[in-house]
Amino acid sequence: MSTPGALRQDDPAERDRTGALDPREGIELLLRDLRTSPRGLTEREAARRLTVHGPNTLTRRGGRRWPRELARQFTHPLALLLALAAVLAAVSGAPALAVAIVAVIVLNAMLAFAQEQQAEKAVEALAEFLPEQATVLRDGVRRDVEAVALVPGDVLVIEEGGGISADARLLSGGVEVDLSALTGESEPVFRSADLVDTDGDLLQARDLLFSGTVCTGGQGEATVTATGMRTELGRIAALSQRTRREESPLEAQVKRAARLIAVIAVGVGLAFLPLGLAAGLSVAAAVSFAIGLLVANVPEGLLPTITLALAAGVRDLARRGALVKRLSAVETLGSTTVVCTDKTGTLTENRMRVTAVWTPDGEMALDPPPEPTGLPEAVRVLARAAATCTSAHPEAGHADPTESALLDLADLLGTPCRPGQRDLDRRALYRFDPRIKLMTTADAVDDTVVLHTKGAPEEVLVHAGRLLDRGRERPLTPADRTAAVQAVGALAARGLRVLAVARRVLPPGRLPPVRREDAERDLCLLGVVAMADPPRAEVAHAIGLAHRAGITVHVVTGDNGMTAAAVAGQVGIGHRGSRIVTGTELASLSDERLDTLLARGEEVIFARTSPEAKLRIADALRAEGQTVAMTGDGVNDAPALRSADIGVAMGRSGTDVAREAATMVLTDDNFATIVAAVEAGRRTYDNIRKFIVYIFAHAVPEVVPFLVFALAGGAIPLPLTVMQILAVDLGTDTLPALALGRERGEPGLMDRPPRPRGEKVIQARMLARAWGFLGLISACLVMAGFLLTLGAAGWHPGDPTGPGTALHLAYRQATTVAWLGIVFCQIGTAFAARTDRASLWSVGVLGNRHLLAGIGFSLAFAAVIVYLPWLQGIFGTASLGPAQLAVVLPFPIVVWGADELRRALVRRRHPAAVPEAPAPVPAPAVAPRPAVEETAHHPLPVLLARHGWSEHRLQHALGVSEHAAAEIVAHARRVAAGHGRHGP
Ligand code: ATP
Repeated sequence: MSTPGALRQDDPAERDRTGALDPREGIELLLRDLRTSPRGLTEREAARRLTVHGPNTLTRRGGRRWPRELARQFTHPLALLLALAAVLAAVSGAPALAVAIVAVIVLNAMLAFAQEQQAEKAVEALAEFLPEQATVLRDGVRRDVEAVALVPGDVLVIEEGGGISADARLLSGGVEVDLSALTGESEPVFRSADLVDTDGDLLQARDLLFSGTVCTGGQGEATVTATGMRTELGRIAALSQRTRREESPLEAQVKRAARLIAVIAVGVGLAFLPLGLAAGLSVAAAVSFAIGLLVANVPEGLLPTITLALAAGVRDLARRGALVKRLSAVETLGSTTVVCTDKTGTLTENRMRVTAVWTPDGEMALDPPPEPTGLPEAVRVLARAAATCTSAHPEAGHADPTESALLDLADLLGTPCRPGQRDLDRRALYRFDPRIKLMTTADAVDDTVVLHTKGAPEEVLVHAGRLLDRGRERPLTPADRTAAVQAVGALAARGLRVLAVARRVLPPGRLPPVRREDAERDLCLLGVVAMADPPRAEVAHAIGLAHRAGITVHVVTGDNGMTAAAVAGQVGIGHRGSRIVTGTELASLSDERLDTLLARGEEVIFARTSPEAKLRIADALRAEGQTVAMTGDGVNDAPALRSADIGVAMGRSGTDVAREAATMVLTDDNFATIVAAVEAGRRTYDNIRKFIVYIFAHAVPEVVPFLVFALAGGAIPLPLTVMQILAVDLGTDTLPALALGRERGEPGLMDRPPRPRGEKVIQARMLARAWGFLGLISACLVMAGFLLTLGAAGWHPGDPTGPGTALHLAYRQATTVAWLGIVFCQIGTAFAARTDRASLWSVGVLGNRHLLAGIGFSLAFAAVIVYLPWLQGIFGTASLGPAQLAVVLPFPIVVWGADELRRALVRRRHPAAVPEAPAPVPAPAVAPRPAVEETAHHPLPVLLARHGWSEHRLQHALGVSEHAAAEIVAHARRVAAGHGRHGP
């Protein structure tokens, strides 16, 4: 309770300043202190408080983290190795080399720092694409606002799946909340307005809610007591500090490789020592060359370049509507082999429209809409009941499309149902439960309460015992059930989403049952409504692309199998055959049989699935070694989203809980975006391989000249100075490497099978190309340029070239040609590395503007080093004449051309194994009848069998074989004996 006197509670200004308030004081007192009411604040007051309290965001503590981040760039093992080299250079009497190495360290640290900052920003910026929303009452009306605009005194409306964005005290209702973000406890806890705790740990108080937690069930209203840094989340300093970015498997792999190469570089440096001494170098010169070689070959810039490429991938994905939460998701996406997608909203537009209804009088098409006059009464009653059994508020932007369609239908048929009045008449609500696929409301109609139920037809039929026929209720006969089942089948086969509607009129004065099971029994079937939800236009193309890319697409839906099969057929899913497996069948499948089913390569339509089934499917696929992307939107989908390699949540229609659990959030809820994301993932991974080839290639033309010098016993002078080697590291390589990270996708990117899981990013094939082909050609060219320049000046092997000799200028020019040769060869290598297989013409020779700019920078840097007199002194270069320049000019063309030829040969020898590209299957007029096995386990037939139908009767009513009918009955007995949810 508040302590009178400790705070002047009645002085709002004082309270505003201190922000202090006891959220556990009496509710009236709390509302008074917050100057609010259960109807919420007015808009104007909310705006005023926003300026007083500031936005509801966490300001980052320890904002100045960059000094530590920058320091880290100087202290990682490779940087320390370089520092050791600098110290060695200094003590061995080569101060210029030491300074140059320090310059390399500093430059690389700055670059790495800038790149990592960019990467972090890319991930952080994603939050702006999908601002957190909260539902509040303002002026007594529900409104969605951005969570940053919440202020103390606001009344939050909390629903299942929603995030809680401020600290609040429950005013009404009860909710289950996941407090794990605050307490680490993953079991949800129950919080209720009726459970008042006035002392003890604040986080355990049973009527308080906290920012950063999520509601996993129930509903309630709560008044905001604290926002921003004044929330418990804000107070827990550790939580408000950014946690360190997790390293992706790719980065870890490359780090290991970089360290291995550093060890090799040290080995090469050490090996050079005796060789250099034997070739006549002084100890000091040999040591400095050893150090130079080491520094040149340590790939210290590789890791930050990869991080930045992944960050560029994240940005690119965000632009396409896919927000990923971790850099590592970019690489995982590229290896996706299976996508499990739901149907509604992802494959379809999620714009429902009722196009037909069925009542005991028969089916009636509503497309085009009929005149309300002369409409059969049964249809009007059906439409009215369906619209009453909703909780949508389309006018406030809260509407499940299914329910909107039902409200629209009632409007269209002249029996409108206004949400405001509907809610006033509501006596009880049993929300839509995706497990039982039913929703029921209790509504006051005149003096009685009527229970309205709608949901999956087979579920409604289980609970229905009567039928409304010509305005009168009568028992539902087996013949009626057959008629209903056949009507549902016919509608579902057209790809329509079918809902049955039923009611039960309670005796006058009777209150709605407390237990859901008591509400959903003895129902009177009114009929069924069928709604169309057209497939998204772009999905068929995306499915075709996924198939070409070797990706299997399974549909996992809560909807009817026939409906799902029809929609799947329309978008091209099931080109290699598909089968429908219902939730009931899945439940009866052993793990081994499920594995066999999934291993067949067919695309499966898992219909009427429960959220648990999603988890089982994801686990089975992963156990098979597949890389699985799985979509989901509900609270119960969270475990499956976490279990899949890439959990995909819906940004528009999904719950906060699903978004929290997912790795990727689609801002447009569109299946095509998943495929686009896979493509972006593949491209990013390819690009990383491209610049690895590029960065690795220059080691050979740097090392070979030293080998030649050493093997010639000094008869051929050193073709490069140590400082020249460092110059390659310092200025000419970085930008083109970054530019290769921005390369566009190579043709055929989506025509090859997914990258096997666990395949290493650096492959022997790449090393062979970088070192054995591109590097070797470059080394030959560089040596040829060097020897040609020396030879032209009249040099013969063994002639002295040291300072003061006649050939010294020619020697300096020759080393300059060799150095420039490396720079030019790297230009050719950069162009070659742009594609792995395709010809450069097919991607556009000048298509990468970043690369052209990077090369421009390299050339300018080279010109400065060659022609600026004071740099000539440092790097041992000399100005070149046109004839000498002409030697190196063709180098890029030779290197690139050679690789172009090699790729052409590879293409000739191994034509691309393009998977057959199936054309999208045109929409079948009627979905194929499921195979015997599916029919046998389909809930409707099973239901009929459980209601005592004989095999003979099933055979006739459903048109199935004798064998199938026998299986249905056998299965029904098994279900009744063991697994039946509803019992026999
Ligand atoms: P998907 O998983 O592909 O998005 P879905 O949206 O059809 O499929 P659910 O929302 O779980 O899956 O719906 C499953 C079934 O439950 C529907 O086919 C329908 O029969 C029934 N249903 C859906 N929404 C409601 C609702 N608001 N009220 C009553 N029944 C509903």
